[in-house]
Amino acid sequence: MAVKMASNLQPFPWDKVRLPNTVKPLHYDLLIHTNLTSLTFHGAVQIFIEVEEDTRALILHSKRLQISRAMLLGSNHPHQELHISEFAAHDQIALFSEGFPFVRGNHVVRLEFHANLSESFHGFYKSSYITMSGEVRTLASTQFEPTYARAAFPCFDEPAFKANFTLCIRRESKHIAISNMPKLRTVEQSDGLLEDHFETTVKMSTYLLAFIVCDFHAIIPEKIGQAEYALDTAVTMLDFYEDYFDIPYPLPKHDLAAIPDFQSGAMENWGLSTYRESGLLFDPEKSSTSDKLGITKVIAHELAHQWFGNLVTMHWWNDLWLNEGFAKFMEYVSLNITHPELQVNDYFLEKCFTALSVDSLSSTHPISTAVENPSEISEMFDDVSYRKGACLLNMLRDFLTPKVFKYGIINYLKRHSFKNTISTDLWESLSNICSSDGGDSERLSLGGFCSRSFAETPASKWFMEDRVDVKGIMDTWTLQEGFPLISVEVKGREVSLRQQRFLKGEDSSKPSNTSSFLWQVPLTYITSHDNAVQRFLLKTQSDVLFLPQEVDWIKLNVDLRGFYMVHYESGGWDALTRQLTLNHSLFSSNDRASLLHDIFQLVSIEKVSLDKTLNLSLYLSKESEIMPVTQGFSELVPLYKLMEKREMPELENQLKVHLVRLFWPLMQRQSWSDEGSVSERMLRNHLLLFACIRREPSCVSNATLLFRKWKESDGKMRLPTDVSLVVYTEGARMDEGWDFLLEKYKRSISPSEKWMIHVALSYSPLTHKLQWLLNRAIEGEIIKTQDLPSVLLSVSRNPRGFKLAWHFLKTNWEKLVKKFDLGSSAISRMVVGVTDQYSTREMLHEVQSFFGSLSPDQGSELRSVQQALEKIEQNIVWMDRNIPLLKTWLINHLVN
Ligand SMILES: [Zn+2]
Repeated sequence: MAVKMASNLQPFPWDKVRLPNTVKPLHYDLLIHTNLTSLTFHGAVQIFIEVEEDTRALILHSKRLQISRAMLLGSNHPHQELHISEFAAHDQIALFSEGFPFVRGNHVVRLEFHANLSESFHGFYKSSYITMSGEVRTLASTQFEPTYARAAFPCFDEPAFKANFTLCIRRESKHIAISNMPKLRTVEQSDGLLEDHFETTVKMSTYLLAFIVCDFHAIIPEKIGQAEYALDTAVTMLDFYEDYFDIPYPLPKHDLAAIPDFQSGAMENWGLSTYRESGLLFDPEKSSTSDKLGITKVIAHELAHQWFGNLVTMHWWNDLWLNEGFAKFMEYVSLNITHPELQVNDYFLEKCFTALSVDSLSSTHPISTAVENPSEISEMFDDVSYRKGACLLNMLRDFLTPKVFKYGIINYLKRHSFKNTISTDLWESLSNICSSDGGDSERLSLGGFCSRSFAETPASKWFMEDRVDVKGIMDTWTLQEGFPLISVEVKGREVSLRQQRFLKGEDSSKPSNTSSFLWQVPLTYITSHDNAVQRFLLKTQSDVLFLPQEVDWIKLNVDLRGFYMVHYESGGWDALTRQLTLNHSLFSSNDRASLLHDIFQLVSIEKVSLDKTLNLSLYLSKESEIMPVTQGFSELVPLYKLMEKREMPELENQLKVHLVRLFWPLMQRQSWSDEGSVSERMLRNHLLLFACIRREPSCVSNATLLFRKWKESDGKMRLPTDVSLVVYTEGARMDEGWDFLLEKYKRSISPSEKWMIHVALSYSPLTHKLQWLLNRAIEGEIIKTQDLPSVLLSVSRNPRGFKLAWHFLKTNWEKLVKKFDLGSSAISRMVVGVTDQYSTREMLHEVQSFFGSLSPDQGSELRSVQQALEKIEQNIVWMDRNIPLLKTWLINHLVN
C-alpha cells in the first residue's frame, strides 16, 4: 500500500479518497454545543460501529475539526484512549491504539471536538439578519450536502453509510434549536444552559442531517406573514406525494426553514428542508407570478426528495442524477396536478433546451460519471444531473406511458426503502412491474403490465417486440455523454432517418469523433396529413420509415418529449417554414419553440444557413405563446449581446431595430397590469423589459411615469407586480432614482421586492454604481454575499458592466472560491456567465491565461473553465462565418 504522510508526519494507514467499506456506522449519539457569541461550537459523538474485518485503524471523515480526545468505549474492557492521525488532503482521520486491532464485531468510539462556525455556506455555518430596529442577530445552520457533515462532526460521510442519529443540542435559553426530528425534551444544565434532546432519526445518510440554532422558529419574526403560501403548498405537496408514491411520509413532522444566508436554492434535509428566503417567502402584495411559480417548484422539489433521495438514496455521487433529475422532473408532474393554474408544462421545455446546450459541448459528461474528491462531487450538481436527468425521465415516461412509469417508481421506492441504489435498480423496477412487486401486487397488477403481457401494453406501440428492455435503452442515454441529432429526408412515402452525435465546434473537414455513438431513440412524429402522434424506436445508425401517403412536411420529436434534435434535409426546413408562415397554429406551441431551437443550433454546425434560419424566425411576428416567444428571444438576443462586447455598433443597432419590429405587434398588446393567465403575465414582464431596455418610446414613457408616481408616494403606491421590475429598471437609470431604490432595498422585508430591486440596480447604465454594487455584494453587509453570483451575472450582461464583471471575477477569485467552494454551481455560474458572450481571440487568450495561471486546487481544472473556453471559441467561429450573411440579410429585411 502506498504510504501517505499524515499531518503529524506518521504514515497515514489509508491512501484512498473513499473510506474502507469493511467498517459500518450503525448509530450516532451526537451532542453539539453552539456558542453564538464566540461563533464556535463544541461537540461529542459516540459512534456505534460494525467491524466486518479485523483492522488496525478506523478511518473516518473529519474536516477542520480540532479533535481533543478519542476513546474506544467498552462494556467488557476499560475505556481505551485512541491515537488520532489526520490526513487533511482527504478530510480523513485514523483512530488506532498501539496495543490492539479492532476485531470483527460491534464497537463504540467516542470523539470530542471543537471548531469555529464556518464563514462559508456549508458545514455548520454562521448566518445573520437585521431586525426592524437595526440590531444584528446571529444564527447557525447546517448545509451538509454533499461532503460537509464531516466539517460539523467526525463521521462516515458517504451516502451509502446510512445510520440512525440521536441528536442533542446545548444552547442558551434565548435561542431555540430545530432538527430533522421532533424535540423529545429540554433539560436545564447546572450552568443555566439548556439541552434539547431530539427523537432518533430513521436510518439515513449523513448529508441529510440538519440542525439550526437561532432565535426564531423557522422564519425570522418580521417575515412570518409571508410564510402562509409556502405552508399551504407544502401540505398539498406532501398529500400529493403520499398518494403518488403510495408510501406515507416516513417522519412525524416536516419543518420548512428560511435561512437568511444560503448558497443554493434549497436543501432537502429529511424532516427539515431549508431554503433561501426568496425560495420560500411569498408576499401577495409584492411577489410576482414568476416568484410564485418558483416558490411552488422549489417546495415540490425538496418534498419529492423526501422519498426520492432521502428514503431511497443513490449509492454514490456518480448517480446524483437519480436524486436530482427525479426531483426536478417531479416539480412538473406534481404542479401540473396540484397547481394547474400555474401552467407549469409551458416551462418544461426550457429545462431541456438548457440541458441540450451544455450537453452539446465536448466538455460535457455522461449523466452517470465517476467522481471521487469533494470538488468533483460538487461539480455533479449541474445542468446535466438536474435538467438532462429530468428530460430523460420525461422521455422515458412518454415511452412507457405515465401509468406504467408511476407503477415502476412505486415499485422502486418500496423495494429500496432506507437503502441505496444505482441506476440499474431503477431500470429493473421499471421493466417488470407485476412479478417484482411485493406488498401491493393487486394494485400494481391492475393495469396488466406484467412482462408476459407487455406486448399488449401501450409501450408496444413503438415496435413489434414483446419485451421492453428499459435498461438497454436507458444505458445509451446515461452512460454516453451528449445526445443524437436525427437527420430526416423525405422522398415520396419513404422517410430516411440517420443518427449522429450533435457536437458543437466539431470541424466537419476532419474525421468525426462522434461516429462511435449510438442511442436507442424513442422517435415520435406528426405529418401534414396526420396530427396523431406516431412512434418508432430507432436502434440503429440509420433506418427507413414508410408513410401511408406522400406529405408536405414531417415534424419529429413531438412537443420535444425526446432528448434529441432534428435536422430536416432536402427542402424539409423550407416546407416547415412555409407552414409556419401560412398557419403556425397547426403546430403546438412546444413544437414551434422546438423548431426555432433546433434550426438555430444547426447553424452552429453548418447544417443550415443563417439566412434560412432567420427566414423561419420571421413567423414570430404572429406569435403570442410564451415558449416560442421566449425561445425566439433566447436565440436572437445573444447575437447582439456578442456584438455589444465588440466594436460593431452599426450591425448591433440594425439587429436591435429588427428585433423590436419583429415583436412589436405583441408588445403593443401588453397592458401595464397584473391581468391574465400566469403565462401571459410572465410574458408581459419579459416583453416590456425588452422594450424599455431597447428604449422603445411608449414603454419608456409609461415606465418613467409609473416610477415617478411610485417615488412620490415614497414607495407606498402599489405597482402591478409583474411590471415592477420594468419600472424599477427604468428608475435605476438615473443617480437619484438609483439611490432611492437602494434605500428601499435596505428597508424592504420582502425577498421578492429585494430581488427585483437588486436586479434593476445591476441593469443600470451608471458604471460607478455597478462597481459599488459588486463591492458591497462581496462585503456582504448591505447586499448579502449569497446574492453576489446573481449581481455579477446581471452586471456582466450589462453593456456598461461586462468589463467590470470580468475584472471583478479575476481580482476576487481567491475570495470567491473560499466563500462559495471550488466545484460549486455558484462558481460555475459565475465563470461561464461572465465569459460566455465574448467572441474575440484577445478575450479567449485573456480568459485562457488567467485560468491557466491558477493551480488545480485554485480551479484551473474546473469543468466550468473548459465550458467557458469552449463557448468563446464557438462564438469566434460563429461570428467569423456568419457576420457577412447577417449584414446582407438585415439590409434586405430592414428596407422592406
Ligand atoms: Zn434537489
